[in-house]
Amino acid sequence: MIQLRYKHGVELPEHRLWLDSQRAKPFAFVSHAHSDHLGAHDEVIASPGTMALMRERMPGVRTEHEIEIGGSRAFDGCRITLLSAGHILGSAQSFVESDAGTLLYTGDFKLRPSLSAEPAAWRCADTLIMETTFGLPRYEMPPTDEVLAQIVAFCRTAIEDRATPVLLSYSLGKAQELICALLAAGLTPMLHEATWKMTEIYREQRPDFPTGYVRFDPQQTAGKVLVWPPNAKRSQTIARLPKPRTAVATGWALDPSAIHRYKCDAAFPLSDHADYPDLLRYVTLVQPRRVFTLHGFAAEFAADLRLRGIEAWALNKANQLDLALS
Ligand SMILES: [Zn+2]
Repeated sequence: MIQLRYKHGVELPEHRLWLDSQRAKPFAFVSHAHSDHLGAHDEVIASPGTMALMRERMPGVRTEHEIEIGGSRAFDGCRITLLSAGHILGSAQSFVESDAGTLLYTGDFKLRPSLSAEPAAWRCADTLIMETTFGLPRYEMPPTDEVLAQIVAFCRTAIEDRATPVLLSYSLGKAQELICALLAAGLTPMLHEATWKMTEIYREQRPDFPTGYVRFDPQQTAGKVLVWPPNAKRSQTIARLPKPRTAVATGWALDPSAIHRYKCDAAFPLSDHADYPDLLRYVTLVQPRRVFTLHGFAAEFAADLRLRGIEAWALNKANQLDLALS
């Protein structure tokens, strides 16, 4: 089996390769461009979409090994194939093959269909390293089209009431999913500057990405839907809008306390992560001999898998730091 270690990131020591380390490393695979997966590495393997987003989000000099989704390349003692992760633009899983076996590292991933990300793919592997953000049975997402229809209805009602609908969502990934849904429903998304920048990269990378969204203009908000990062919610800009009506789009909306926690008028369970049933389904699809879990309910999901007779361990727990797992 391919050896791995965990210390603030996953390392494949035989290949001197790190997977999504947030600390600067000589050589790393970057699964996607969310900031908790980026690092100031010397050499980077990533998809073209991730590379483009990374140049904007983490400028700097680095050696880039760009591999198309579905493409593969030989490196130090192994072959790496990038498979779509279905999470955001350019998000990729890394499938590693060597004389020692095969390993699939998911990064953040989602099996449900998406309007703005490429559909996920998978391969059977000896070792599966998977994210488990929603690794508890209570996190079962409703169908995405139903959630998007509820969000569109929320916006339409607000506009009819001469209020200003404000959708709070991460500027990269979730925002573009909302933009696609709003445009398809005939609504006009008006974007915060950070969201605008990310969306323009989607447009560059994907010529089929829809047009019709506009940049924020405080004089032109009537009849528009503002798409805004969650951390900018309490800004003066929002407070000055005519009758702001806010909604957050997050998988954590499945928690009954979400509206209270996010201090919004509504919360919709739109997520770009696999939910609990899909995490289980993924293990069945990949048929691994061992599983390592990362993020969210990693320990709980690993324990769940062990009860089902599958060897599984959480990686990112304090008591396992620097643990050699080979
Ligand atoms: Zn992510």
